[in-house]
Amino acid sequence: MLTTIQKGCLDGARFIASPYFNERPIGEMITLLVIHNISLPPKQYGGPYVEQLFTGNLNPKEHVYFSTIYHLEVSSHLFIRRDGEVVQFVSFDKRAWHAGQSCFEGKANCNDYSIGIELEGCDFEPFNEIQYQQLAKITQCLKHYYPIQAIVGHSDIAPIRKTDPGPYFDWDYYHNLVK
Ligand SMILES: [Zn+2]
Repeated sequence: MLTTIQKGCLDGARFIASPYFNERPIGEMITLLVIHNISLPPKQYGGPYVEQLFTGNLNPKEHVYFSTIYHLEVSSHLFIRRDGEVVQFVSFDKRAWHAGQSCFEGKANCNDYSIGIELEGCDFEPFNEIQYQQLAKITQCLKHYYPIQAIVGHSDIAPIRKTDPGPYFDWDYYHNLVK
């Protein structure tokens, strides 16, 4: 589980199709991994709302915050929940819409050449151990299949707009797990 990929899909992940993707540019390689955090409503975990947002099914009437984001066309390849469950929304072969306007080492449009992984969480408290374990396992798998050269946070590639995965994401711990 989480160690093999078939047709762009991670074995062991629950697949829920998002309509929010398109083709990667022809000939573009996957060289970047982008780590995010998300929780809906903010700082609340376990609900169906992230999946609803990424599939275009978030009800703006269910929460005042949802009314400000329900119209966004966003997705990620993977979502790692607080309990370690892994959900995939977009094939790795396709271009998920997670990074938005972004730039890494002078190269714009990171969605073209990256895989986006959302951790269920926020900028204000630690992530769970199981999330690090799952993320590390997935990272090793992705590195096996794709020529990934760098792993960054969303805040690294869109520093004016974004703060995730936030100060509680333990990069040292994560990198040590992946080694
Ligand atoms: Zn993000």
